[in-house]
Amino acid sequence: MARITLTDLTKVYDPDGEAVVAVEDCNLTVDDGEFLVLVGPSGCGKSTTLRCIAGLEDITEGRLEFGDTDVTTYSASERDVAMVFQNYALYPHMTVRQNIGFGLKLSSKLSSSEINDQVESVAEMLGISELLGDKPKELSGGQQQRVALGRAIVRKPEVFLMDEPLSNLDAKLRSDMRTELQELQQNLDVTTVYVTHDQTEAMAMGDRIAVMDKGILQQVGPPEEVYRQPVNEFVADFIGSPSINLLSADVDGSTLLGPGGFKYDLGNASPVEGHDRVRVGIRPEDIRLVDGGPNRAEVTVVEPMGNENFCYMELEHIEMTARISPTQRPTAGEEVAFAFDEAALYLFDAETGDALKTKTDESPDNIHTEVST
Ligand code: ADP
Repeated sequence: MARITLTDLTKVYDPDGEAVVAVEDCNLTVDDGEFLVLVGPSGCGKSTTLRCIAGLEDITEGRLEFGDTDVTTYSASERDVAMVFQNYALYPHMTVRQNIGFGLKLSSKLSSSEINDQVESVAEMLGISELLGDKPKELSGGQQQRVALGRAIVRKPEVFLMDEPLSNLDAKLRSDMRTELQELQQNLDVTTVYVTHDQTEAMAMGDRIAVMDKGILQQVGPPEEVYRQPVNEFVADFIGSPSINLLSADVDGSTLLGPGGFKYDLGNASPVEGHDRVRVGIRPEDIRLVDGGPNRAEVTVVEPMGNENFCYMELEHIEMTARISPTQRPTAGEEVAFAFDEAALYLFDAETGDALKTKTDESPDNIHTEVST
């Protein structure tokens, strides 16, 4: 097992030609045995960061350590990492037994019977013992993914690196495999970095999540902390489904004045002091539909989810979403009044996007159901 430390890690592709800065000055520590999820939109530098950790890309600047060992210039084979990719890259002509054992055969001096014992114990752990004689084409997507995991696990690496390993699976299987992978990682206790563009997966799986945008690490923390206390508008917007509602507002003393007559009196003006204009954020679960009030929007669609309804609304061309009680069914075209607590309000600097105020402890993560329309 190993702690992974990235210090000012920078990766520039083609530094002498059309330089692409894929990762810039990344500082990150993944604790021994931790499951860290690297998440961000496509092209933000997640895979590059992972490939630098694996030794599949040269690090342009900065340092990488496993435990106390500087591995910056180590080759991939010297680093004792195992990678699991989105495409499982199983050898089609080999059986499951051979696929799982292949890496051990190359990298260890174990006898055939010792390799067999280890392959069988890993196959049992993954529930694929009865498939050991099959070829990959005879397996379902989920089974192939288990074999790919088996191949990584059997090597007992210091570090697991996983790049979107579940994205080829259908939704139900993906969700089952998430749980399985987490349990497996906890049992094996191997430091793991897991890359995904899917924030729901990140929130569900990570001990901590690291959010990247445009090659720059934005925030690292436990999922709830990143959700409730995002450092900036990008993180607030990227994490959470449905997304946070965002609008621009002028500041008049302690009052926020936005489009479509939006008006909100802050009890305390200090977060907006010195700002003429801010960005306002309200999570969908924090919006209540109420009987009257200054803030009004027009309902476009109501989507029943069973345990709640998603109410899509427009506030002067700004699309908003409220998660409301299943007993509330406003109709499309209806004008509704909405309200929210100040404790739930997020405010961001209009220029830099930096957070000025985030959710406070008084704001519960629940859905308001008290008022019907
Ligand atoms: P992500 O995994 O978040 O989708 P990547 O790490 O794959 O992002 O890519 C980050 C940036 O680096 C992107 O702009 C991408 O186009 C660029 N990039 C990735 N691989 C290469 C490469 N081999 N050569 C040049 N540019 C690359």
